[in-house]
Amino acid sequence: MRVFNTLTRRLETLTPREPGHVRLYTCGPTVYDFAHIGNFRTYVWEDLLRRTLELLGLRVTQVMNITDIEDKIIAKAIAEGTTIDRVTAPYIQAFFEDIDTLGIRRAEHYPRATEHIPEMIAIAKTLEARGLTYVSQGSLYFRIDAFAPYGRLSNLERREIKVGARVDSDEYDKDDARDFVLWKGHRDGEPSWESPFGPGRPGWHLECSAMSMKYLGESFDLHTGGVDNIFPHHENEIAQSEGATGHPFVTYWMHAAHLMVDGEKMAKSKGNFHTLRDLLAAGNDPRAIRYLLLATHYRSSLNFTFDALARAAGELARFDALQARLADARVAEGRDAVFDAKLAAIDAEVRDALADDLNVSGAFGALFRLVREANAALDRNELPAGSAAGLSEALARLDGALGVIAAKPAELLDPEIEALIAQRQAARKSKNFAESDRIRDLLSGRGIVLEDTPQGVRWRRSLPSAGRG
Ligand SMILES: [Zn+2]
Repeated sequence: MRVFNTLTRRLETLTPREPGHVRLYTCGPTVYDFAHIGNFRTYVWEDLLRRTLELLGLRVTQVMNITDIEDKIIAKAIAEGTTIDRVTAPYIQAFFEDIDTLGIRRAEHYPRATEHIPEMIAIAKTLEARGLTYVSQGSLYFRIDAFAPYGRLSNLERREIKVGARVDSDEYDKDDARDFVLWKGHRDGEPSWESPFGPGRPGWHLECSAMSMKYLGESFDLHTGGVDNIFPHHENEIAQSEGATGHPFVTYWMHAAHLMVDGEKMAKSKGNFHTLRDLLAAGNDPRAIRYLLLATHYRSSLNFTFDALARAAGELARFDALQARLADARVAEGRDAVFDAKLAAIDAEVRDALADDLNVSGAFGALFRLVREANAALDRNELPAGSAAGLSEALARLDGALGVIAAKPAELLDPEIEALIAQRQAARKSKNFAESDRIRDLLSGRGIVLEDTPQGVRWRRSLPSAGRG
């Protein structure tokens, strides 16, 4: 697979340190509010990346941190007169519900910052021993002019670095390359832990160095996030990790571009700020939301509009319509060599597109061509059962990476089932067996099993089949 590496600003072949096994760190949510669709653009893209690596036969170990201590969390706890745990607990739960809703595969580890304070203190101690820190007013700072490669990821010129200037806040501007805080001295009302530098709490950047290296090793393959994370967050992670270990931290850095809403930056003040929950409450299909978020290439900014969301739902309906046709089609046995060859070519084209730095337009372009080919073959009655099964298998396998093709068939309501059974009985009575078989197959395709008994027709729901469930 080729990926665009932010560090080298080039497309590179991804070669994991351990053959066949990619170690991936993805910056996770700061849990003081519901995640918004800009956050989910990044998480959905990272899920596509993970699933594509798996489609290509690689094993993935993914870590996503949960930032449960940070400036905004503490400010909210103080404002509400409560603890940080009480602020974060409901949003941690909401985060997992939301990623499940969007079909995001679970990472192997979701470490929480507050559960890794000793690991963070250990890194800070090593940095102190290596002369890369200093103490000022009870806080420990990283001295960026003592770390020569500082600024390499974000392309900062050395002249932009303000020697000796300090910053305490977790997030700050690109123009403001300053010594950043590793350990913040205790302030009234803030949670604090004992440390060799006195009581206090870690800075935000330190947690990702500590938790990534704990679960993935001092050097690992791939680290991702939104472009907003490049500076200062990821720049500081490199400084802390490489400053402490003396080894390269991460081989490949990948970053997703911004999400805009109606062409503007999302902001609560503009009324264009959407959480996933807002969109679901307005009746939108999570699968269409996922598709819209991943169908724009991750390095291009994505303009979210409700028109685009409606179009996304319409495009997915083409997959659903084809799958319904395949389930209901009455086809001959055997295979069609011409169709099979087209299918194999398009299958390879989709995989190649995804392997090329996640070229989603190429992948979906090929898939929609496949839908047209399959519909045309069905129209001509030239899609025999073997080829149709091959098509279903390919769609399910490729959807392992995309997660948008396989729709759960809408569940039939009991009265609809009863009505179809009555129609079938009427067809049998008038000896229209073709029609009665058609209805039986239609019901079977929707997971309804019929049993003819002396007392009449009984029905039950079958377990969902792997292909359509
Ligand atoms: Zn991070």
